[in-house]
Amino acid sequence: MVNLLQFDRVGLGDFCEQLGEKRFRATQLFRWIHQRGERDPAAMTDLARSLREKMASRAVVGALPVASEQVAADGTIKWLFDVGAGDAIETVFIPEPGRGTLCISSQAGCAVNCRFCSTGHQGFSRNLSTAEIVAQLWHAEFELRRRLGLAPGERAITNVVMMGMGEPLQNYAALLPALRVMLDDHGYGLSRRRVTVSTSGVVPMIERLRDDCPVALAVSLHAPDDGLRDELVPLNRKYPIAELFAACRSYLDRAPRDFITLEYCMLDGVNDSAEQAGALLALVRGSGGTGSGLACKINLIPFNPFPASGLHRSPPERVAAFAAVLQTGGIVTTVRKTRGDDIAAACGQLAGEVQDRTRVGERSVRALPVRIEHRVAAPLSRRTDPPTGGARSPA
Ligand code: SAH
Ligand code: SF4
Repeated sequence: MVNLLQFDRVGLGDFCEQLGEKRFRATQLFRWIHQRGERDPAAMTDLARSLREKMASRAVVGALPVASEQVAADGTIKWLFDVGAGDAIETVFIPEPGRGTLCISSQAGCAVNCRFCSTGHQGFSRNLSTAEIVAQLWHAEFELRRRLGLAPGERAITNVVMMGMGEPLQNYAALLPALRVMLDDHGYGLSRRRVTVSTSGVVPMIERLRDDCPVALAVSLHAPDDGLRDELVPLNRKYPIAELFAACRSYLDRAPRDFITLEYCMLDGVNDSAEQAGALLALVRGSGGTGSGLACKINLIPFNPFPASGLHRSPPERVAAFAAVLQTGGIVTTVRKTRGDDIAAACGQLAGEVQDRTRVGERSVRALPVRIEHRVAAPLSRRTDPPTGGARSPA
């Protein structure tokens, strides 16, 4: 059976042709699936009977089985979906007045292995398929419409952020059709500004995304210099900050937004000093030695702790002081509100269940804490260890 959630509208047209049907039927079918949440071909009354019959025997709208659902005190909902072979992924709905944001996963686990991220600690199992990415949105949208009693045509989800488990730009082939389904006027009809891809900095894929589908881009920076970023976001060893910023600048040439959102997770004693705020300001203004700066907005994320991280959240006054340095320097800076942390649904707490097929999780437990603790004890301004420049190994 073919899962129809794997197709963008062009792909669905190809599939209709393979069934011996006219391409334009795909638009009707696409609307039934993604605008009305219909799974049963028999109910798709305006489709030619021949197509309905072929679909009933050859295709399904393959939703993901829900392993569990939790609702937080603030209304945030977290679904755990079973994706087979011992893997489960998480999707989070964040209601706010006038909008509903869905945070979607792109991989079971993640291979980037960021020091402060619960998903990274678990290791990597596999990429999700386009159907598995789209199924998260399909389930949330139509489940919420039913529950909230929305009128036909009213949408539950107004914004999508690719900020769940996984590094979306390390699963580009599956991501791209999924983005097209989200943006399609016959699908979810989200504007490009309301769909955000968040990346730890996969430079070549930032360039591809710019050319293929320039949605809003968020970049997880977390450090103002390569030395610290190499440790927090190991991918930095492959794509250092200067290259990342160059890719971001070229993204803006095509992007519908005129700025990149830089995410910065505030870690007590690691990356939150006044000096580091100053270094970050210099970096984005272009006086930090990496070229000509970047048109950006900075989003400070209070670290969400999870067992085994060994890290702590920066105290609120340090976050405020850090933000003040940036704001005084003329950079729009916000502090992200923590949502759903009582059900471990906040940024970086998503862990699902992942069979670590790369053993990246084990490596992290052995290799990283020592170096970080050293850094906590020795703030950046007074550090004496040798610079980490020179040859870079692939992450
Ligand atoms: N892999 C992508 C998207 C998923 S993570 C990326 O890294 O951008 C979404 C955001 O949550 C990223 O900015 C990530 O760095 C941040 N994050 C990860 N762990 C966190 C934690 N424990 N507390 C707060 N934010 C965290
Ligand atoms: Fe992967 Fe993003 Fe977590 Fe880093 S922060 S380990 S890139 S999911």
